[in-house]
Amino acid sequence: MKLAVPRESEAGETRVAATPDTVKRFVSLGFEVSVETGAGTLSRVVDADYQAAGATIAKDAKATLEGADLVLKVRRPSAAELGLMKKGAIVIATMDPYGHEDAVKAMAEAGISAFAMEFMPRITRAQVMDVLSSQANLAGYQAVIDGAAEYDRAMPMMMTAAGTVPAARVFVMGAGVAGLQAIATARRLGAVVSATDVRPAAKEQVESLGAKFVAVEDDEFRQAETAGGYAKEMSDEYKKKQAELVASHIAKQDIVVTTALIPGRPAPRLITKEMVASMKPGSVIVDLAVERGGNVEGAVPGKVAQVGDVKIVGHLNVPGRIAASASALYAKNLVAFAETLVDKEAKAIAVNWEDELVKATVLTRDGKVVHPAFAPAAG
Ligand code: NAD
Repeated sequence: MKLAVPRESEAGETRVAATPDTVKRFVSLGFEVSVETGAGTLSRVVDADYQAAGATIAKDAKATLEGADLVLKVRRPSAAELGLMKKGAIVIATMDPYGHEDAVKAMAEAGISAFAMEFMPRITRAQVMDVLSSQANLAGYQAVIDGAAEYDRAMPMMMTAAGTVPAARVFVMGAGVAGLQAIATARRLGAVVSATDVRPAAKEQVESLGAKFVAVEDDEFRQAETAGGYAKEMSDEYKKKQAELVASHIAKQDIVVTTALIPGRPAPRLITKEMVASMKPGSVIVDLAVERGGNVEGAVPGKVAQVGDVKIVGHLNVPGRIAASASALYAKNLVAFAETLVDKEAKAIAVNWEDELVKATVLTRDGKVVHPAFAPAAG
């Protein structure tokens, strides 16, 4: 069995899909591991560390991917990479398939079995494979660090002989995995923290982290959670009431971090340009949803936008800004899933196509788009 870890080819991708730790595990599973030279550089892993773990270093993508049965990636393979893979190869990555149906079709045509890690069911057995959580957790942390770096004042209250510096007020919108970590990080830095979410279950979690919960708590709010635990689209009437409450709250904040997402839909717009204008000079907004359309009016993907006296931080690939940690966790998520695709006795790949983890994540197989969300449109 050959495993390939190519260097990520997409601009701005700093992460890598395997670490020396996970390479060791693949070697013990019976894999011959090939890592492209420089694959770990931006995550602070040098070729020699992979070699010491049992990998062979390949000089380019072609040599890395040649004959590989299993390919690990952070991003969906490019057309050039697909051209280097053998038919029947298993490719595990974050595939970002929504809105990229043509790319899904291209993977089917290349004859690979493509697995989308972001579709991993959020069940107990698969917690260790949950890339959305591992990366969102780090993104939530990094969002506060980025916000603090753009903020021209101190975060904690400081009582000094020369006077008192007040604590920063931080408001976190969306209290999922990223938002909860943002709350915890802002609290650790000494800020006064509040948060909001449309899911009623979030209230208790926010409060347990020592932050104040801000939301219109009417009947619609109490019923606003899908069976999967995700947010659902709220009525226009609710959105209006919530926006009024939030508008008056935002005007008093120093840093706002937005993380609100609804699976498979564009990110909800939470902050209008009027709300931005209502903030004090020097305030900072960090929009973690900028890649999915943005929660904040005026956010620019990949930029720190200066809008009047307020900065709106719209960094792309926020987990990639903390690449060494993000890669370490991502690689662990991948090895945990890959292990379920291997017969440990026979030291051979043996996919159980009936396994619920496989069924939920497989996009393409045997030349076809097989995932129910994409098969009718792209197949
Ligand atoms: P997400 O990234 O899809 O969304 C982030 C947050 O934004 C969510 O909390 C969502 O409710 C919120 N949001 C959406 N629209 C909003 C709006 N208009 N205003 C304010 N907030 C809004 O969410 P996530 O981080 O993936 O977490 C979603 C759920 O999944 C949570 O209940 C979480 O606890 C759960 N979860 C379960 C597991 C597990 O069991 N293994 C793992 C991770 C997360």
